[in-house]
Amino acid sequence: MNILVCIKQVPDINELKVDAATNTLPIDKAPNVVNTLDTYALETAVRLKDADPEVKIFALTMGPEQAKEALKSCLSVGADKAYRLGDVLLEDSDTLATSYALSGAAKVLEAREGLTFDLILCGKQTTDGDSAQVGVQLAEHLSYPQITSAVEISVDAGKVRARRETGDGYEVVETALPAVVTISKTEYEPRYASVKSKMAANRAEIPVLTVADLEIDTALIGLNGSPTKLKNTYVPQRKKGGIKLEEENGEIAADKLAALLSDAGIV
Ligand code: FAD
Repeated sequence: MNILVCIKQVPDINELKVDAATNTLPIDKAPNVVNTLDTYALETAVRLKDADPEVKIFALTMGPEQAKEALKSCLSVGADKAYRLGDVLLEDSDTLATSYALSGAAKVLEAREGLTFDLILCGKQTTDGDSAQVGVQLAEHLSYPQITSAVEISVDAGKVRARRETGDGYEVVETALPAVVTISKTEYEPRYASVKSKMAANRAEIPVLTVADLEIDTALIGLNGSPTKLKNTYVPQRKKGGIKLEEENGEIAADKLAALLSDAGIV
């Protein structure tokens, strides 16, 4: 079985500090890491490989030169090969253009490696863009079935079965392969790299795919190919004042809150 894991390099949110002078988050000052849920997606793939040594794992990212470090970190914890899709023509791509380019890269990798990706794993969402759109759009571009928000998966007889989070709890669903599955936080934690595997990954060459390598319509990538139009960015105003209810008893606090809302004519 061949698994493609799509990963995105993001700023480490634990290291992000608000710049008090400008009230903004200087993301360029934070170190970059593999998006958290992508590390769970990769761990999910590596566990399938632990159970079946025939499994091959490929990591793919679309991103700038520095994103190769994120791919090396994937190699150090179990990915067999890693590819970066990078090209100035891809700059300013929104999620739809990004997922379209990734679908083109997946097809090219299949042709180059002479295989089919049975399973494509993505994180459910990222910690920076946070849209949770790329995985589901990727499935649509490839015309593959998809399962979202999976916390546990198993593969058997050409099918993937997943326990997925829902608004009310969990449900178990299955679909035929090839399929795209987006991974949420699993019960198991991603493994750490050993010093030896880190050193080997550091020496690895990361092949780069460019737009010229893909069979995609260049009108559907970059700013012009992105239907999302960014109208404005702004720092939200901090609300001042307000009333804080500090009752220890929840019932009394609820009564006071109801009275306040009623007095204000809100309820
Ligand atoms: P989600 O949809 O939350 O991600 C879900 C999962 O999809 C991830 O967990 C991961 O598995 C996979 N995934 C997401 N992104 C990638 C990726 N790049 N490679 C591999 N797998 C991935 N961003 C830039 O970096 N540079 C730009 O110039 C840029 N210009 C933009 C212009 C516009 C108009 C807009 C709207 C957005 C732009 N962005 C740009 C943001 C960019 O579109 C998103 O970062 C990207 O599409 C991923 O979206 P997300 O972070 O919400 O991912």
